Amino acid sequence: MDISQIIDPLNKAQRQAVCSEAQNTLVLAGAGSGKTRVLVHRIAWLVQVENISPYGIMAVTFTNKAAGEMRFRIENLLKMPLRNMWVGTFHGLAHRLLRAHWKDAKLVENFQIIDSDDQLRLIKRIMKEQGIDDKKHPPREVSWFINECKDNGQRVEHLSPTEFYNREYLLDIYAQYEDLCQRTGMVDFAELLLRAHELWLYQPHVLKHYQQRFGHILVDEFQDTNTIQYAWLKVLSGNNLPATNISTFVVGDDDQSIYGWRGAKIAHIREFTEDFTAQSHKTDATKKTAPIAETIRLEQNYRSTGNILEAANSVIAHNTERLGKELWTQDSDGDLLQIYRAFNEIDEAAYVISQLEKYIDQGGKRNNIAILYRSNAQSQPYEYELVKRGIPYRVYGGLRFYDRAEIKDALAYMRLLSNRQDDAALERIINTPTRGIGQRTVDNIRQHAKQKQLNLWHSALEMLADKALTSRAASAVQKFIDLIEELSIQDDELTLAEQVSAVIEATMLKEFHGKENSERAQAKMENLDELVNAAKRFDDQGDPLLEAVREGLAQDETPQYTNPMAEFLAHAALEGGEGQAEEWQECVQLMSLHSAKGLEFELVFLGGLEQGLFPHKNALQSSDPSRLEEERRLCYVGITRARKQLHITHAQMRTIYGRSEPCRSSQFLTEIPASLVTQVRDIANPLMDNSLVNESDEGEVSIGQLVNHKKFGDGLVIDVEGSGARARVQVNFDDYGKRWLMLHIANLL
Ligand code: ATP
Ligand code: MG
Repeated sequence: MDISQIIDPLNKAQRQAVCSEAQNTLVLAGAGSGKTRVLVHRIAWLVQVENISPYGIMAVTFTNKAAGEMRFRIENLLKMPLRNMWVGTFHGLAHRLLRAHWKDAKLVENFQIIDSDDQLRLIKRIMKEQGIDDKKHPPREVSWFINECKDNGQRVEHLSPTEFYNREYLLDIYAQYEDLCQRTGMVDFAELLLRAHELWLYQPHVLKHYQQRFGHILVDEFQDTNTIQYAWLKVLSGNNLPATNISTFVVGDDDQSIYGWRGAKIAHIREFTEDFTAQSHKTDATKKTAPIAETIRLEQNYRSTGNILEAANSVIAHNTERLGKELWTQDSDGDLLQIYRAFNEIDEAAYVISQLEKYIDQGGKRNNIAILYRSNAQSQPYEYELVKRGIPYRVYGGLRFYDRAEIKDALAYMRLLSNRQDDAALERIINTPTRGIGQRTVDNIRQHAKQKQLNLWHSALEMLADKALTSRAASAVQKFIDLIEELSIQDDELTLAEQVSAVIEATMLKEFHGKENSERAQAKMENLDELVNAAKRFDDQGDPLLEAVREGLAQDETPQYTNPMAEFLAHAALEGGEGQAEEWQECVQLMSLHSAKGLEFELVFLGGLEQGLFPHKNALQSSDPSRLEEERRLCYVGITRARKQLHITHAQMRTIYGRSEPCRSSQFLTEIPASLVTQVRDIANPLMDNSLVNESDEGEVSIGQLVNHKKFGDGLVIDVEGSGARARVQVNFDDYGKRWLMLHIANLL
């Protein structure tokens, strides 16, 4: 047996973790110290050396993409497919469980996952029906309340009305919302987790099945588990039953906990050793002497240069609530960090793109570059520059493919086809494309539904039968009903992709979204085509996790779920948008700091280091100091994504809500020792020394002028744009073709 491949690429502490014999192991370590690597190698070790069947292993990751990568890396190490191993996010795993055990979970077979938009729509509807003023009580706050309750495992009946004095409406809406979701077969994201937890609590035979199945549970990014996820793990691994043999292995970094605002609790790291020490010993004779819980620390960073690591360490040292870890590297100091003080966000983007162009020109790969920011809205100026210069890029975490309006419309039709009770879907498409069903008709149908306790579909049917609608409305509604019924009939004979295609055609969605003669309309039509392709891919490849679940249930009598359309819809709801079609293309990565967790890039740009933006103003204004600490952890996450080079930028002016406002640089900048940085602005941008743009350089270069560039050689100016710091020229270089350059950086002669 060749185990050298598993063990050799590890240092001593990593090896100790991979081979840990403790029943429960916590690997607590800083960024880039190999936690994820250890998790991957641990699974390979279990399968290859300890002869554990992949069937008995469950690994939890933070995104679907990470899950895919983890499976790939383990399969590569072991040189064999591991189809029946469970690897996924908490949400993904919970969803699979609920699909397989829908009856036990008290759900309908074709329950539908709804996103936060749908959730908000349902809440608004309930508030309207209840006559609750949504100006006084913003529906979004109600949805936060409901999600928070669910994240903490609380149903309405667990809440004490006395604590809701003057806020009784929250309990009311929560109760009605739960009722509506239950009746119509809707499950929101928080509900997935709560339901999966309740499945353990109320269905001991299901819990027992999985406790017997899983010998090993492994969790990456453990610092960001929330209450209900932790509770779910605890119950599964036998907290409530003394006789399980389940071994847990969690890796995390308290300094990288960045989802406190979504209910994640760093405290779970501390609690882990206590909670999991209370468990029973293994009964296996060979493991008798093994400790019950072990904490292993990894201290060597393999990712970043010395300077980058020292900057990260200095920043995070300003936090007080830390478990305390050391992190060092053998790597050389590397380049200094570059800090650029931009005039405004346009100048910031121009600087970033010119720097990354330089890197690409020197042979760097676009895939190795990331532009990171605190808030998604910051991506826009970067995108503008990238498009302009023809550099391929991908934005993560923005509007997902499946969140685009035209795609959601098509999906809503499919949802209604598989489940007539899906009110949220019906509301979305009853008049999309427009078919003459006005708001008043929809209100009437809603009203009738409420009186008769029906879903909207059946309410519409009843009103038609009772002739309760005006004849024009009735004929439009009838047409809609006929359309859905007709589409349902063909379902069985068609493949998934054919079904999707049939829906798009019959509903005329392409014509509807493409009627404008614009690029946007064109893109929407292409997206609808892409949906058919996505369905085809889904049909061809299936879902590895789903297969793993099925296999686990083969011996059981548990009903299996096999409707491909419902599976595809769930995939669309849960997929993080990481698998966009262009993934194959080598491109620059743009993403928020939150989505950058766990990833690494050779060249990183960290933008918008300004008070109010990063740290975010909510944290600055909060009376709770831990909010600022979470921002700082986010900064630590950002810095530690960089392997070789890190550029940090901040602007003196930024357009916020359409107004250009002066900005102060972020306090985090002052926390990086001056010896580690160089201020780019003074060198590269002498024209920008005053905060006012020096307009006098305008017109320095004109169209038709021959110029010379240090790297690109001779060329002809073919376009000039903007002025001052924003001045850009397009030059057609003899050897390099057309390029846009920032005038004040390009140094044209
Ligand atoms: P994060 O906290 O950001 O999630 P991490 O602790 O999970 O980081 P990894 O992503 O596993 O760290 O590893 C960081 C980098 O260091 C990776 O490129 C990994 O391949 C490399 N690495 C880890 N351990 C070693 C080692 N023993 N020898 C060489 N390279 C290593
Ligand atoms: Mg990691």
